[in-house]
Amino acid sequence: MAYATINPATGETVKEFPTASDQEIRDAVKRSGEAYKSWRDTPVSERAQLMHKLAELYRERRQELAKILTGEMGKPKAQAIGEVKLVAAIYDYYADNAEGFMEGRTLEPSTGGQARVVLESTGSLLGIMPWNFPYYQVARFAAPNVMLGNTILLKHAGNVPQSALVQEELFREAGFPEDVYINIFASSDQIADIVIPDPVVQGVSLTGSERAGSSVAATAGKHLKKVVLELGGSDPFIVLDGENLDRTVKHAVRGRMSNSGQACTNSKRFIVLEDAYESFVEKFSQAVQGIEAGDPADENTFLGPISTVGARDEIMEQVQDAIDKGASVLAGGKKIDRDGAWMEATVLADVTPEMRAYAEEIFGPVAVVYKVKDADEAIELANSSPFGLGGSVFGADEAAALDIAKRVESGMVYVNETTGTAPDLPFGGVKRSGVGRELGPFGIEEFANKKLLHTP
Ligand code: NAP
Repeated sequence: MAYATINPATGETVKEFPTASDQEIRDAVKRSGEAYKSWRDTPVSERAQLMHKLAELYRERRQELAKILTGEMGKPKAQAIGEVKLVAAIYDYYADNAEGFMEGRTLEPSTGGQARVVLESTGSLLGIMPWNFPYYQVARFAAPNVMLGNTILLKHAGNVPQSALVQEELFREAGFPEDVYINIFASSDQIADIVIPDPVVQGVSLTGSERAGSSVAATAGKHLKKVVLELGGSDPFIVLDGENLDRTVKHAVRGRMSNSGQACTNSKRFIVLEDAYESFVEKFSQAVQGIEAGDPADENTFLGPISTVGARDEIMEQVQDAIDKGASVLAGGKKIDRDGAWMEATVLADVTPEMRAYAEEIFGPVAVVYKVKDADEAIELANSSPFGLGGSVFGADEAAALDIAKRVESGMVYVNETTGTAPDLPFGGVKRSGVGRELGPFGIEEFANKKLLHTP
């Protein structure tokens, strides 16, 4: 079954869901288009009320919602509750701010007269979302667009069907009209052959791998549909000096290992200036060695299983390829022999360009450390990646660290912190990490009609 809950902590198949028929998919697209006709004219204040109610439901039902994440993709309980709270904050943020954003801005035309640009809805949109933050990825896309007056068709990842269904249920329970948000258990072929080509659908937002992004964007391009793509990352974590090393190592561990290493903005490449290298690597490896993977349902667990056995095996192949070609293992490095999708938190050193671990994204709890002689070499290595999503720079001299941050080719760089996210801050990348931005005022502009109103 393409849609199934398989508990990654045990390997047990819990529940399976059939893929929708072609006719069901066509009907869903039609219903979404019909819903748009009245939703676009619903007062923004009414939409905001419903969205606040939705946020409230997420907060009220956070334990149950977190449990679904833990059971479907293995997110440790405390982090799952953190995700639900963040999602509620995103829905509240757009409920509070969308009307202001939609008022747009006044321009002073060089040709005379008065000009104002306002944001309006464009229609029904398709969202294609991954399993790693099953609620957060959806909220980043749905919150601004539903507030704008667009309607949503949502195709979620095959391994999180219950997370997918409960979100549709929450929209309904909050009081949104039935078809404003529709979950579709669609196949990739149905997406390409039925959903994207349909004139009702005005745009596609995909968060996921480069492979999926490229395929979906090609179909969207063929049909002249706008896309937003939030793809992979291999974020650099640059350490300029050995000051405040305990703090830096604490950030490094969280930055790499949170969500069991399966976040697009996890710090993935630790690029350390030579004066600080030995002491950083010693403390960091020791800290990583001390992380024990455990039951994700236990609220004290920090590192859970990988999302699926297949994903774990893929990560182990990347690690083994590096080891076979001469990389050193400073911590972990092995899979854990128990049912489910388990592996050790790992640190690799001496990684060179012919190894997969050098240029590929490693989507699991594996850190790669590099020694460089100075800041210029750090930037060169940081920017040699095909990705450009986030990044961080650590150093005692904040102004110097900020100068380095400005030279990193990516969409988001944090100084003395790891890459984060918040409802009011833009999120997105450059290069092969994607196109477009989500969240903040930028997130509501992507699928808006930025309409010019001109008067004499
Ligand atoms: P994936 O395989 O690309 O899956 C993501 C979504 O795309 C799933 O719903 C998947 O459905 C769907 N999909 C895949 N191929 C498709 C196609 N040809 N047509 C239509 N839909 C298609 O991604 P993943 O490997 O599960 O997720 C991890 C990736 O996402 C990593 O690279 C990570 O960095 C990236 N990510 C990026 C961000 C960001 O904001 N930049 C955030 C989180 C994750 P099925 O499950 O049914 O195949």
